[in-house]
Amino acid sequence: MNVLLIGSGGREHALAWAISASPLLGHFYCAPGNPGIGEIAELVQLDVKDHAAVIDFCRMAQIAFVVVGPEAPLVAGLADDLKLAGIKVFGPSKAAAQLEGSKGFTKDICARVGIPTAAYGRFTSREAALAYLKQHPAPIVIKADGLAAGKGVTVAMSDREAREAVEVIFEGRFGAAECVIEDYLEGEEASFFALCDGVNAVQLGTAQDHKRVGDNDTGPNTGGMGAYSPAPVMTADLCNEAFARIIVPTVRALNEMGMPYVGVLYAGLMITQSGPKLIEYNVRFGDPETQVLMMRLKDDILTLMLAACDGTLDKISVRWHADTALTVVMAAKGYPGDVVKGSAIRGLDLARSQEGVEIFHAGTALRGDQLVASGGRVLNVTALGATPQQAQRRAYAAVDAIDWPEGFCRRDIGWRAIARHG
Ligand code: AMP
Repeated sequence: MNVLLIGSGGREHALAWAISASPLLGHFYCAPGNPGIGEIAELVQLDVKDHAAVIDFCRMAQIAFVVVGPEAPLVAGLADDLKLAGIKVFGPSKAAAQLEGSKGFTKDICARVGIPTAAYGRFTSREAALAYLKQHPAPIVIKADGLAAGKGVTVAMSDREAREAVEVIFEGRFGAAECVIEDYLEGEEASFFALCDGVNAVQLGTAQDHKRVGDNDTGPNTGGMGAYSPAPVMTADLCNEAFARIIVPTVRALNEMGMPYVGVLYAGLMITQSGPKLIEYNVRFGDPETQVLMMRLKDDILTLMLAACDGTLDKISVRWHADTALTVVMAAKGYPGDVVKGSAIRGLDLARSQEGVEIFHAGTALRGDQLVASGGRVLNVTALGATPQQAQRRAYAAVDAIDWPEGFCRRDIGWRAIARHG
């Protein structure tokens, strides 16, 4: 079957890498893609906000299946429009994508069906939010409602910081002036993935990422500087608990609300003293978590995605390599602030010829034949290893083979997994 993948980041390159190995694949397109994806798929320029144009292209290129990488097109209803046009699509409807698009929507479902999460209040007025803060001193967490590209959350350690975060939201900096204020949860964070077909769900592995830009988890937050899978903190018992108490009731609730969830459901969890609690849902694969998940997946990703769309996940089990996968993000100097674009990157062939290594592109471009940096997060240097240590050693050996003086990376990705492994 002909497949169209939508997106251009490291996540999409990892998905493209897995899809390109599928025996079901006919011609493979990606819009807009990146130079790494361009080695395995035909890149097309499409305005994904123009749903009619996407549908026209699908008809013209006889696309039987569309895979949507990022959240924005899902929240904008691209999956609904493709489905209406008779085109099969992996990714939830606009209604179900509210799980990521609206923190209040998710919190209300959690409260209604008893999903473990932080206690919260939901506010549409500055005064009410500030009054709530008087009753709930710091530490406390303030979240803008709506997609804020991960920037709408303040973990306030002082009352002043909490009040300031509320003021910023009600100045309208994140669009709609609405916020959720929730209790601060203490514990270790982990990402937990499930594949859902509207009624059934199957577990799809675990990962942990490193959000801060600097070694020892210092400096500002980023989109993610590295990740590894599995997350050692997620024992089989904890996975089963998170699945039974968080994922399954969510899928049931959405189905009962008439908005069955189809796609990958990515739960950001806090593993607290009293078990896993939901911090947030994402309605798509994580970036850079997908880079490590795809390296460990033994089964055909297209078969799994199609089963999600066809409602046949009850007949599917997913097999994984026991190895650890670890990815190191190489970013342009200055990230997450302003970066200089256009610097040349060399040595990728040597780096990826090393055992167990794959390199997924994110912000890269071609200038003639020369690969150059074109964004903040640029490359995902990913390796499999029998242990977290081996995966880390292999990934950094590959990083060191890359000749890109204008790039940088953290040197401690995986420290928590390595510490736990002994
Ligand atoms: P979110 O966008 O909801 O995932 O929040 C971004 C980050 O803020 C999370 O990855 C956590 O590190 C932190 N965070 C969010 N909610 C809480 C909470 N209730 N308690 C502690 N930390 C939180």
